[in-house]
Amino acid sequence: MTTEGCDARRGGPAAIRFCPFCGNPLHDRFWEGALRRFCRRCRQPVYENPVPAACVVVPDSAGRILLVRRGVAPKMGLWCLPGGFMELGEAPEAAALRELREEAGLKGRIECLLGLRSTPSRLYHTILLAAYLVRTDGKTPVAGDDATAARWFDPADLPPIAFDSHREFIRRFVDLKYKNTG
Ligand SMILES: [Zn+2]
Repeated sequence: MTTEGCDARRGGPAAIRFCPFCGNPLHDRFWEGALRRFCRRCRQPVYENPVPAACVVVPDSAGRILLVRRGVAPKMGLWCLPGGFMELGEAPEAAALRELREEAGLKGRIECLLGLRSTPSRLYHTILLAAYLVRTDGKTPVAGDDATAARWFDPADLPPIAFDSHREFIRRFVDLKYKNTG
């Protein structure tokens, strides 16, 4: 998605109505190159930023990857990489491993950062998604939290994937594996 010269809110969720600092009603004002929500009492815009999230690409020894089936909207019933939003004060790596534990019952360790994607969201407007390559001890995944199933899939035979960003991270992993094994 593009963010150039933007009306930061276009196509996103409803604009916030009240200043989170003083409670005053907000107005639209063009400020620092974008139309922003502005508080006249604080005399400053309310900056709205992407929400950071983390997900994991976890291969097993056969090169299959772990997917979970979504038990919540959006895209309920479709499959995706384990992942979710970072908590306050949490490192992105810790968020990634926590989500893996919660959604698939597996402990893992971070191998490397696979990539970063800015991705549109109906609720949060823009999500900044970090994907990590993670190794586990090969135990059987057990679905939990927002996931209704968790299992290994051959990358060449994937079920419908909920998000384009996840599809791209899976592709990056497959390319990486191809390069590493010649
Ligand atoms: Zn204010």
